[in-house]
Amino acid sequence: VWSNCLQVIKENIGEQSYKTWFEPIRPISLRDSVLTIQVPSQFFYEWLEEHYVSLLKKVIYQELGSEGRLEYSIIVDRGNDSNKPQTVNIPTKKIPAAVVNSYKPEQSFIKSPFESKTIDRNFLNSQLNPSYSFENYIEGDCNRLARSAGYAVANKPGTTSFNPLMVYGGVGLGKTHLVQAIGNHIKNSNPDKFVLYVSSEKFVNQFIESVKTNNVQDFANFYLLVDILIIDDVQFLSGKDKTQEMFFHIFNHLHQSGKQIVMTSDCPPRDLKGLEERLLSRFKWGLTADLQSPDFETRMAIIQKKMQSDGIDIPDNVVEYLAYSVDTNVRELEGVLISLIAQSSLNRKEIDLELAKQALKHIIEDVETEVNLDFIQKTVAEYFQVSLDSLKAKTRKKEIVIARQVAMYFAKEFTSHSLKSIGYHFGGRDHSTVIHSVQTVSDMIDTDKKFKVSIQELQKKFKSKAG
Ligand code: ADP
Ligand code: MG
Repeated sequence: VWSNCLQVIKENIGEQSYKTWFEPIRPISLRDSVLTIQVPSQFFYEWLEEHYVSLLKKVIYQELGSEGRLEYSIIVDRGNDSNKPQTVNIPTKKIPAAVVNSYKPEQSFIKSPFESKTIDRNFLNSQLNPSYSFENYIEGDCNRLARSAGYAVANKPGTTSFNPLMVYGGVGLGKTHLVQAIGNHIKNSNPDKFVLYVSSEKFVNQFIESVKTNNVQDFANFYLLVDILIIDDVQFLSGKDKTQEMFFHIFNHLHQSGKQIVMTSDCPPRDLKGLEERLLSRFKWGLTADLQSPDFETRMAIIQKKMQSDGIDIPDNVVEYLAYSVDTNVRELEGVLISLIAQSSLNRKEIDLELAKQALKHIIEDVETEVNLDFIQKTVAEYFQVSLDSLKAKTRKKEIVIARQVAMYFAKEFTSHSLKSIGYHFGGRDHSTVIHSVQTVSDMIDTDKKFKVSIQELQKKFKSKAG
């Protein structure tokens, strides 16, 4: 009976839809006009019911008459609770004759370009930029977890527990680079796998377009072909309920078939407003890893690597200067490097400290109103009546040591510099010296009333400047 049904279904829908939705179905039993079929997942069942219910009713009617009924047996993935698949039986309602007779093939069954022939996967474009790789993705404290999880996924897509892998972090911190590197790595080692990179914005637009042109089915079918789905900036799905629903189905289907999903977002999943709870809960199935602002050392390494790959020589003191001046994100750092290179070639000048300061002028001016390290050092030096240079010098004179420690303490409180970077600004001291200074000042505030007042006065100055 079922194979007769399939015959009719095959004639009514596209080849790809048929392969995707009907070939995986197993007939289980036929008892008293009730045909039971087994489907691989809850999602499968929902999809069939949503899109093929009238077609199914028609074929059941043809084969089993008006008493005919269809029952689904669903293989339920119980996740961690049990390894054995369980089944749930869902009977369909009795078929009203009116529905049966009114079946017409729906618009969405129009053949898609992918359905008219067997798919040649070579034609599927991954949308990856080959210049993003792990080799040129500098590792540092700021990205270690995300990078190594990404590397594990790249080597064993779909089989690690990092599925989905969700990478989040602020703008310009390397999310797109990292997930594209994963995609490129997989593509290079498994050319037969269909890796797809898509921005969430494009995903939304494609979906809206498919609704307009009645091609939702093709849209879904296309995404269900994907072996590794990389979807960038999922915060963009926020508030787009219909698209989210589609993504939810695609996500479930791919995940259940052991396909790898990689996502990025500009904030942690718990802060993704306007995303459905059921989606968010699925994001937590795998691993969530963040990208932090690059620390001083990573910034140094990034500058060195970029200059090296461009074949440009740059003195160490300029690398250091740039690394500590631009501490926001990698994209901005790259921007500064580009303008530095441009100025060097325009003025036919070698890159040196002076040129670097010139190139950074506009950025430094931007932060004039902030409580930055320079301002803290100047203010503290004045307050304790020591010279600015002495804060950065080796001298261990008592009053200078105290002023230096206080300045470090405020640098920690009012700037986003890492301990390492603060140490660098104070004559190249290491981060443990900074920790010790901060601790010493805290202790003195607790024990020395006069000292406490001084600190409060300074604090007021910084707070009023910070606004
Ligand atoms: P996001 O997607 O988080 O906004 P991108 O991935 O676009 O950031 O990164 C911005 C720029 O910084 C890109 O040119 C990228 O190559 C570079 N970049 C980011 N992180 C690193 C890193 N760890 N090593 C080398 N380059 C990086
Ligand atoms: Mg990006």
